[in-house]
Amino acid sequence: MPKNAEQRSFKDFLSHIDNQDDDTNGHDENGHLSELSEFISDEHPIVYFSMEMYDQSNDIKGGGGLGVLAADTRRVAEQLNAPFVIVTLFYPRESHQTLRYFWQHEIHTSADPLRLYKELGCVSIRSMYDDDAELTILERKLGSTRIIAVTEPNLGELYQGGNSDDHRLYQEVALGFGGYQALKQQGIEAAFMQLNESPTVFAAIAKLDDLCQQGLPLKEAIEQTRSSLLYTNHTLVAAAESKFHRDQFRRRVMPNIESESVRDWLDSMFDADGLLPLSLLAIELSGAKSGVSKLHARVSNFSDKDGNHVDFQAVTNGISRKWIADGVSDYYHDLGILDEFDLPSDDYVDKLQRLEINAIRELKSQGRQELNRVLETRLDQTGQPIQIPDDALIFDFKRRFVSYKRAGMVFSDPDRLAGILEEENAHFILTGKPHASDYPMKEELHRILTLVDEHPVLRSRVHYIQDYDEEVGRALSIGADCAINIPEVGREACGTSWMKDIANFKLLISTPDGGVADLDPIACLEVSGDEEYELYKRMVEAAEILRNDDRYLAETIREISGYLPIISGSRMVKEYLGLISRMRSNRLVSTS
Ligand SMILES: *Cc1c(COP(=O)(O)O)cnc(C)c1O
Repeated sequence: MPKNAEQRSFKDFLSHIDNQDDDTNGHDENGHLSELSEFISDEHPIVYFSMEMYDQSNDIKGGGGLGVLAADTRRVAEQLNAPFVIVTLFYPRESHQTLRYFWQHEIHTSADPLRLYKELGCVSIRSMYDDDAELTILERKLGSTRIIAVTEPNLGELYQGGNSDDHRLYQEVALGFGGYQALKQQGIEAAFMQLNESPTVFAAIAKLDDLCQQGLPLKEAIEQTRSSLLYTNHTLVAAAESKFHRDQFRRRVMPNIESESVRDWLDSMFDADGLLPLSLLAIELSGAKSGVSKLHARVSNFSDKDGNHVDFQAVTNGISRKWIADGVSDYYHDLGILDEFDLPSDDYVDKLQRLEINAIRELKSQGRQELNRVLETRLDQTGQPIQIPDDALIFDFKRRFVSYKRAGMVFSDPDRLAGILEEENAHFILTGKPHASDYPMKEELHRILTLVDEHPVLRSRVHYIQDYDEEVGRALSIGADCAINIPEVGREACGTSWMKDIANFKLLISTPDGGVADLDPIACLEVSGDEEYELYKRMVEAAEILRNDDRYLAETIREISGYLPIISGSRMVKEYLGLISRMRSNRLVSTS
């Protein structure tokens, strides 16, 4: 049986979905996805705009989940041979974390755009402040996909400054208007555009302006833009979105728009305070809107211009096979659990019963060795590499250090934590960075690391890995034993690091939030009610399960049975294609 889809065409994938023997392809809703192969081609690809792509093997470092999703979406498209272009920015400056006396400091490195990318030419964007900014267009082809990145030496770094700062608006204009022009120059006309979060909306404005310049009246130009635009939202509440002032628009956005009708339309979108959230533009210009988990799509609270509630479709994030150890991925394919497109097979739940504990233990031991190799090259809170005895269990918490993810909960009772780690012969690995301007979370990191340092047991059993990145994320997913994912319920849009854990036979301790809550009840070790108490109880339970072959096999099968379809990045792409297909044929019911 072929282990991957590299020899199969995109059309094969579409017909495979149409023929799938389940109801998730929703034929009557979607029509047949195979029809899409008539519209999607190398000249008319799916074009995905993202301010962030987290893909260090392509020399672009991101900041978190949104960028990981963008890179994974491209990887899955490549694996499925789908014509796909990601348009993003190449930031010439990268930020890294270092610690001094347990305080985070940022150090900056520069990134060389020409190490991997080909220079294709340039485009320029305008503002009322200074001369036109010249942006270089970079390209890298990877199978059926391409990365098109625009850059210039003063573009700065990802998430520099605040959400609604002028420099952020400059970067967003550079991506949207610069990226759209770059595509045009290359003769690429998108069959469909997907906006990965609203700051990419200037790409849609550039298209709207282009259509009006070609002579289309505004109303029709808006209709046409909508019919091929999908907006994917990651932000739960409209209030958290970036908003810009009319004056910022006048100076940075309007000079890039030729049509007076588009400028007037934009002008009419500001609220009484002269502010415009970019999400409103994305809502008005997209024919389909999606959230990144079922819970997220349900609770998203956005309104259109007329104040109507906006419906978001749920397309839960998935991950690409990059995050799954090769041996584990081969094992799933050998047992027929995943098919050649990395979709769970129709009878994957039955097939999971064929998993064998010895094989799992052997794969975990290989994973631990890989983790050890990475730990040797990284620094802990004292500036030393980390060594963990082979017979010790490893718990981890690896999340961006942001308040709602609650890294601190593990340390709410230091003696209780110390007792568990000692009794169960376990170590705890913590990693994740606060945003450069998040001073409360920098304090929180300092507090936790000081508390650990002052505790005789925690000091030798709790390890913080500096400068959390993809390498650390993957190594922990593959090599640690149990992951702790305890976001404040209602705050996590989806999260994907827990998917990497379950796929690699780790146990998951989690609150019912984000994509974990796609299942009700959730299929892992749940933390609910008295959360601090439950968390410690679950850690003890996880250690007992992990040391018992029968219980470990049963629990890991339970978690994978529940979550494998959700984890599959091909399932995610399949659902996006379903949305696109329904949008194309106007079968999507959507307010606004
Ligand atoms: C997977 C991953 C993420 C996304 O994780 P969340 O679950 O969304 O927090 C972020 N950063 C890195 C480095 C990752 O590997």
